[in-house]
Amino acid sequence: MTYDLTGKRIWVAGHRGMVGGAVVRRLGSEGCKVITAGRDVVDLVDQKAVHDWMKATKPDAIVLAAAKVGGIHANASYPVDFLYENLMIEANILHAAHEADVERLLFLGSSCIYPKFADQPIQEASLLTGVLEPTNEWYAIAKIAGLKLVQAYHKQHGRDWISAMPTNLYGPGDTYDLATSHVLPALLRKFHEAKERGDKEVVVWGTGTPLREFLHCDDLADALVFLLRNYSGNDHINVGSGVEVTIKELAETIAEVVGYDEALTWDTTKPDGTPRKLMDSSRLHALGWNNVRDLKEGIAQTYADWIANG
Ligand code: GDP
Repeated sequence: MTYDLTGKRIWVAGHRGMVGGAVVRRLGSEGCKVITAGRDVVDLVDQKAVHDWMKATKPDAIVLAAAKVGGIHANASYPVDFLYENLMIEANILHAAHEADVERLLFLGSSCIYPKFADQPIQEASLLTGVLEPTNEWYAIAKIAGLKLVQAYHKQHGRDWISAMPTNLYGPGDTYDLATSHVLPALLRKFHEAKERGDKEVVVWGTGTPLREFLHCDDLADALVFLLRNYSGNDHINVGSGVEVTIKELAETIAEVVGYDEALTWDTTKPDGTPRKLMDSSRLHALGWNNVRDLKEGIAQTYADWIANG
């Protein structure tokens, strides 16, 4: 299939987030009309507000990038916020989209939907084959429910809706608040501030041994537009970069990009989280997309953007 985006009215839900922002930028060159609506216009947790807004707006397609997101600490500290808000956002938008006859919808999940000890690299078929990583199971359960709801609309109502599961993301528009951020922006900030203050050491969480795969949000957005155009199946699709590093290697690369050359120490009282999280993106590659930038270049670009734009 090819879904022609030209002239389509596409709602990017969550445009203020890192992923939504990247999708808005990427759709800018597709000849479509991008629709956005901030929380002041429609509160996505409010069922009636979402239904009223959807009925009035009637988009042709939706990229559902809105979610309550956060790093390992935030996830473990605010289980209700992560589970309840994400369930509400998904259920409200999908049902309202069905009633408004939305042609195409792309739901964004996350690699944390997979079991903690899934075989690596993680295939789409690993879903629901084992227990989840406890530090982010609240978010994971909500995202699993969301992708199942997409499949349910596909199955019961023939909706041409799809889901994509990105790996760990980074890039412009990320969260730099140390209490809620993911590791990459957290370390950019820690090293940058340590350099400014002339600190002799930076403390990094965990043991440094966990492996993570990182994908730039603009590369993700490119893959999502590709899927919106070219993929119609009932199964969700992994979107990874194949670029896998230990947290220690990541920390060293970030220190190099920032220009911090003092000591790195490890706070092993902080959780490591899941030991390894590498996606098998061979289905995406087989569909015809493989377009990933170099990690160090991506980090340097992200650092420059944060310094310029905050
Ligand atoms: P995860 O991929 O869901 O585990 O989420 P994170 O990006 O929050 O954490 C990834 C890994 O980086 C974990 O092993 C953390 O312990 C480690 N890490 C090291 N320093 C930091 C930090 O300052 N912030 C965060 N969020 N993680 C850190």
